[in-house]
Amino acid sequence: MKMPFIDLKSQFKSIESDIRKRIDAVLEHGQYIMGPEVHELNEKLAEFAGVKHAISCSSGTDALLLGLMAKNIGPGDAVFTTPFTFVATAEVVALTGATPVFVDIDPVTFNIDVEELRKVIADVENGTHPLCKDSELKARAIIPVDLFGIPAEYDAINAIAEEHGLFVLEDGAQSFGATYHGKRTGSLSHVGATSFFPAKPLGGYGDGGAVFTDDDETAKLMQSVMIHGMGEDRYQNVRLGINGRLDSLQAAVLLPKLEIFPDELVKRQQVADAYSERLSQIPGVTPPSLPEHCTSAWAQYSVLSEKRDAIQSALREADIPTATYYPIPLHLQKMFADLNYKQGDMPVSERCAAQIFSLPMHPYLKEEQIAEVCQVIAKAAK
Ligand SMILES: *Cc1c(COP(=O)(O)O)cnc(C)c1O
Repeated sequence: MKMPFIDLKSQFKSIESDIRKRIDAVLEHGQYIMGPEVHELNEKLAEFAGVKHAISCSSGTDALLLGLMAKNIGPGDAVFTTPFTFVATAEVVALTGATPVFVDIDPVTFNIDVEELRKVIADVENGTHPLCKDSELKARAIIPVDLFGIPAEYDAINAIAEEHGLFVLEDGAQSFGATYHGKRTGSLSHVGATSFFPAKPLGGYGDGGAVFTDDDETAKLMQSVMIHGMGEDRYQNVRLGINGRLDSLQAAVLLPKLEIFPDELVKRQQVADAYSERLSQIPGVTPPSLPEHCTSAWAQYSVLSEKRDAIQSALREADIPTATYYPIPLHLQKMFADLNYKQGDMPVSERCAAQIFSLPMHPYLKEEQIAEVCQVIAKAAK
């Protein structure tokens, strides 16, 4: 059965006239940069996430960068994050001149392991971490990643950060709409960052992202960094910044999508439940497990199996799309070769990278499609 991995067409059909109306309005007023749609979106995003300030920006990558730059993270600073994530998480750290320091993941949630985090922070503070050999490193920030849509363990992470005076920047690129103890992502730490890349739970028709915070001063700094470090007016540049704005056209697309997003989150959960019910009966296949105090945005529905390669071949044979997030953990990527990590340094991430695969996941997935995907997996896992 042919089916899309992510079904943007069905979603478009359901809100086509709203999207076209919104885009037409932008074409009429012509304020393509920082138009009224951007301000309206920021207000609605802040309300949705339950924070004082939401600032939409050009991508999830730039959202992370805004958070780091606003806090003056740079050379000599250690930023703790996981290697089992999209490259952007650690790439932005290196772009500021700071050093990404990897911490292995929890094997169940795939999010940062808080006990490991404690150890690695202590190693950096004591100067015993291998990365401290050639240069002095100061522990500055933690970037927890809410992988596949499930929030990281923020109560513990925030407590560790408080104890060590660290800045916490949530990489919520995959978790917009998820909750942790009833609170939405974006509101769970000092600053939250998310992405509106088309394939994310809330996606535009191009690149986009947002940062969230309750802190007035941090919000002001991120807004300034986003517009070339602008001061009181546009031609006063008081700090190093970037060109990081969201287009009015993307805001126009995101506004109607945000309206149906709560309903889509419910449907995503139903799809995940339908998958899990079937897959939990197949030996040798481990469906995702959601901590009781969390809901997920289900950016990906990812499964572990030692027979991953055989299962993926069978799925492709049956015309069912499947993807591998992520085949190479970041500590083994060439981009970070100068950090001198080696195979075996992050055993949980490495094992997950060898066993993980993702299945079609979107709110418009039908029961019979889910049934077929699981049938193919059951046969291939034998
Ligand atoms: C998608 C993603 C990003 C980057 O978002 P872009 O909008 O593509 O720049 C960062 N971190 C994670 C975990 C992501 O999945």
